[in-house]
Amino acid sequence: MKRNFSIAVLPGDGIGKEIVPEAVKVLEAIGQLHGLAFSFQEAVVGGGAIDQYGRPLPDETLAVAKKANAVLLGAVGGPKWDGLDSSLRPEKALLGLREALGLYANLRPARLFPQLIEASTLKREVIEGTDLLVVRELTGGIYFGEPRGVKPYHNEERGINTEVYTTKEIARIAKVAFEAARKRRRKVTSVDKANVLESSALWRKVVIEVHKDFPDIELSHLYVDNCAMQLIRNPKQFDVIVTTNLFGDILSDEAAMLTGSIGMLPSASVGGRTAMYEPIHGSAPDIAGQNKANPLATILSAAMMLNYSFDQEKAADEIELAVLGVLDQGYRTGDILSAGTKLVGTKEMGELVVKQLMKA
Ligand code: NAD
Repeated sequence: MKRNFSIAVLPGDGIGKEIVPEAVKVLEAIGQLHGLAFSFQEAVVGGGAIDQYGRPLPDETLAVAKKANAVLLGAVGGPKWDGLDSSLRPEKALLGLREALGLYANLRPARLFPQLIEASTLKREVIEGTDLLVVRELTGGIYFGEPRGVKPYHNEERGINTEVYTTKEIARIAKVAFEAARKRRRKVTSVDKANVLESSALWRKVVIEVHKDFPDIELSHLYVDNCAMQLIRNPKQFDVIVTTNLFGDILSDEAAMLTGSIGMLPSASVGGRTAMYEPIHGSAPDIAGQNKANPLATILSAAMMLNYSFDQEKAADEIELAVLGVLDQGYRTGDILSAGTKLVGTKEMGELVVKQLMKA
């Protein structure tokens, strides 16, 4: 089995610069424990790249990402670049990376850590045991469909966006969801709006077709409005949710909030040869540079990398267990602090996870 891996490290802006080094430390430690050799190539992306190169995703950075076995990204953006034209904004780098690397599926686990139950705004009995995965289509749908734009329309203006999906696009994301379900509790819920949208009717038809190759997986369908409701009413009913770009954008944020802690949630974007791993949160300019950010979402993203890109499931599990161990000892960053727990900074949290790993 392959034991040497190259990782493109793109810390980005704001707290990205603080949390990514902690995840790198954890990768180095797990590498030692499992005899894995990681080589890290760092490159600039987002606002920092705009300052240095005049664009958010320089060719140099893209080349580093393409050459690597996987990409670890922090976050991009900040008030300094908010005024720029949308084509030059730091967030454009994310779209550029997804497109260039062919990453059409976004995997976002939302798992409630029992130690953090008090951080959720929902009642304990509703959220206890929540452990779901949202699989969001990432490169199609209304965010990319043509025609689009704002055009003069009689005496006013008219804004247009178009929801478009082809059979092939739906089939490949459905396959990702069924395969992910095989590593979990073997249940897929496909979410659409097939009662109103033709593109959704096609979505449902194709998902049913692909399901024929996965008879061991249970498939159900929900309209998106009902799914939004069910996520709050009874999140435990879900294992894998698969849906379009737009619905997935909204539902994955809703699912994230079930767990109450944006600083704890990892994500993976997969589909091409090189996958990309990043926390779901942004660059948090309000706490950047103060050693206050929670690095655990990034550390858990590194664990997803070991599992999905490097086939090192045991190493990934050990990182997750180390995170649980540190939480069990009562250590918390500010965003997940509650009565009776001990406040630590970004660096200390990273070091605690490494220490826990080494001791296991
Ligand atoms: P945000 O996720 O950066 O922050 C929202 C709130 O959560 C803030 O109060 C922040 O302090 C807190 N928070 C986020 N991550 C945290 C962590 N790891 N530890 C502790 N607290 C944390 O969202 P925002 O404020 O809407 O956006 C800030 C910037 O980030 C914007 O420029 C936005 O465009 C960008 N952004 C980037 C990404 C990305 O890179 N993938 C995603 C979302 C937003």
